[in-house]
Amino acid sequence: MRVPFLDLKAQYAVVKDAIRRAIDEVCDNQQFILGPQVRRLEHEIARYCGAPHAVGVSSGTDALLLALMALGIGAGDEVITTPYTFIATAGSIARSGARPVFVDIDPARFTIDSGLIADRITERTRAILPVHLFGRCAEMEPIRTLAAQHQLAVIEDAAQAIGAEDEYGRRAGSIGLMGCFSFYPTKNLGGFGDGGMVVTNDPALASTLFALRNHGSSTKYLHTLLGGNFRLDELQAALLAVKLQYLDRWTEQRIANAEQYDALFRKRGLEHRLQLPEIPKKERHVFNQYVIRTPERDALSHFLESREIGHDIYYPVPLHLQACFEYLGYKKGDMPISEQAAKDALALPIYPELTSPMLEYVVDAVQAFYDT
Ligand SMILES: *Cc1c(COP(=O)(O)O)cnc(C)c1O
Repeated sequence: MRVPFLDLKAQYAVVKDAIRRAIDEVCDNQQFILGPQVRRLEHEIARYCGAPHAVGVSSGTDALLLALMALGIGAGDEVITTPYTFIATAGSIARSGARPVFVDIDPARFTIDSGLIADRITERTRAILPVHLFGRCAEMEPIRTLAAQHQLAVIEDAAQAIGAEDEYGRRAGSIGLMGCFSFYPTKNLGGFGDGGMVVTNDPALASTLFALRNHGSSTKYLHTLLGGNFRLDELQAALLAVKLQYLDRWTEQRIANAEQYDALFRKRGLEHRLQLPEIPKKERHVFNQYVIRTPERDALSHFLESREIGHDIYYPVPLHLQACFEYLGYKKGDMPISEQAAKDALALPIYPELTSPMLEYVVDAVQAFYDT
């Protein structure tokens, strides 16, 4: 048996006819930029996320940059975030002109350790940018409290967490001032290319975001702000609207897969060899990734490779140690929890179309690794 890390062809087989019809409709209309499809997807994503406004944009990375631009964050400002994430999170902060300030993660959740944030707030801090990593919400309540005390904005990087809920049932993206989503093909709601969305509760910010994504213009050829081309395509919006109808089904399947991994690993006593991800009771963890931890990570990775079992390592180098952020002056040992996770975390296949025999095959292989 071969188990891929992700199988987008299996997903496409289910939605193919509806997607081909949606694409045909756009082709027949020949309206490709900021038309009815983008408007409809914005309404549907806003409703899905429980936020009144949504602005379609060109990628998750651009969603983050645009959110920072909308707040006028730039040179001289600091934004607090996590080093254990995809480069786009801190990359966008740096591209805005602001300085990323890293705070280490909570070892159980992989998300920013809210207890360590207060010490890093200075008079230059403008925002806190937590990441809902692997599909689980960061601890938002203490972050919101701190932000309110210090008059900081909270921007959620929800790229991996569409449909996730915190312990109060609030949807990812709607808990802070703005939430940023990605429709990169490997995300839980993936397009046929790049795309993203910013959601917000604030109508004034929504207007700014709408203007900024289209060259800072609300009236044609009048530019009140300096924006750019951050637009979402009609074609992407049309097919994403089709896939959105399946998202809850797919998410339930991801959660069921996580529960099945958990039950099988425990049945074999492997929870003593591996640290299994928490399956929170009160929150909705949408499992964009199922990430186990083990000191034998690299050997396990080679073993899985030899058995043709797809897996991946998120993230092998935390952002404070990346060459592009050398100028920030961090060194090894500054973020010990993130550095440890970079050495021992390994993601197993969790995609909705993964079958039970495939999942059992993965568990068998992990057991075989520890038995030899
Ligand atoms: C994917 C991702 C992004 C960037 O999204 P793109 O659409 O690829 O630009 C940002 N942050 C996190 C945490 C991501 O996983």
